[in-house]
Amino acid sequence: MNYNLGIDIDGVITDEGTAENNIWQRKMNEYFSRDIKLGKYTYNLAEAYGLSEQELNSFLTDKLFEVYQEVNSAPGARETLTQLAEQGHSLILITARNEKFRDLTENWLEKHQIPYHELHHQYDKAPLVVEKNISLFIDDKKENALNIAAENIPVILVKKYHNSDFNGNQIITKVDDWKQIKENIDLFLSKNTLTGKLS
Ligand SMILES: [Mg+2]
Repeated sequence: MNYNLGIDIDGVITDEGTAENNIWQRKMNEYFSRDIKLGKYTYNLAEAYGLSEQELNSFLTDKLFEVYQEVNSAPGARETLTQLAEQGHSLILITARNEKFRDLTENWLEKHQIPYHELHHQYDKAPLVVEKNISLFIDDKKENALNIAAENIPVILVKKYHNSDFNGNQIITKVDDWKQIKENIDLFLSKNTLTGKLS
């Protein structure tokens, strides 16, 4: 059976790096010429890095394009997505990135040889996940995972500092990397379940 599989881009297909190598931290240090470090485990970048809202806005206006362009792809993402596409599954990318980054995003996906069938720019993902008849979604944002899981659609949640306060549940399985994403997708495809449901 072929499935529609939904995948987030930032923090899932992209790899921001950790600690000093994190692309956000590096770019912020360059931009503000002061030592900026991750201080709080939250999805809100201003709070996480101790910036004012105004500072964050000027940083994003000047540097977001560069971050999206230069960020690496996550190890194993291309291989796993290529295999899934070859097996006949539909890969539907849903990103909260602004639509104005569509060309940049398409070019980045091509450069990193990430296969996909559809690309949607949508902040509130759950309604689109339902509309697109997606059977399994992969994201790194806890709120997206909870909203999608509330529709009874299983979610693979990639571990990040900003979701460290949540360990997953019956329908949301937390994973470290694409090796574990692949294991969970393979399990879902063969048994229509995730490891979280088996334990
Ligand atoms: Mg994300």
